[in-house]
Amino acid sequence: MRSIAIFVLLFLSVSKTNAGVAVDENMNIADLVGTRQVTFDENGEFLFGDIIINEAEVSELGAVTFQRWTEGKIVYQFDASLTPRQQQIFVGACNAWTAGTPLTCVARTTQKNFVRVRTHNGERCGGPWISCSALGMQKGGQDLWIYKEHWNGYNTVIQHEIGHAIGLMHEHQRPDRDNYVLILEDNILPGEESQFSKSPYAVSGAQRLRLRLDHALSQLRVLEV
Ligand SMILES: [Zn+2]
Repeated sequence: MRSIAIFVLLFLSVSKTNAGVAVDENMNIADLVGTRQVTFDENGEFLFGDIIINEAEVSELGAVTFQRWTEGKIVYQFDASLTPRQQQIFVGACNAWTAGTPLTCVARTTQKNFVRVRTHNGERCGGPWISCSALGMQKGGQDLWIYKEHWNGYNTVIQHEIGHAIGLMHEHQRPDRDNYVLILEDNILPGEESQFSKSPYAVSGAQRLRLRLDHALSQLRVLEV
């Protein structure tokens, strides 16, 4: 995420329309699960904005799936290069998610799955002024990259990236978002258009969502026959 301004822009640019649209013949599979037209790099990763999508997480249905953190514990481990101040900032940002939620943030001891908190100078996440994270809990260590300048007064950016590590997706970039919101493109700041592109994948971290997706796809297949 680039800045808080994006959040403000988002709220200005998106207005709600009627929700709860039924599946019908005017919809296609791409409206639900995305185009899936992406190129994974040699590490099997694809960067969608500030979200690292791993090819292994893409299901047969075309949804990106992820695991929830075991017992709600977000396990983190700091890269050796992080200063005590940066570590303190991260813990503060992580704890912002625990207030009023069942989540807790715990430093890694022997856990197999954990977030590896790292700093980059512009060579990761698609460039400078972008921090990025993998989505949800993954097997083994997963990277959460913080751009070096984001340690200096951009705690909300760090919170945002932890949100992705929890499994949150940009709702306004869901492949089916046009069924729910209207993007007022004239209000988008020049150069920020990509912040409003649709995800090439749907995201499913909950069984309820998976069932809904399965149901919608089965209906579409019937309609296509
Ligand atoms: Zn993001």
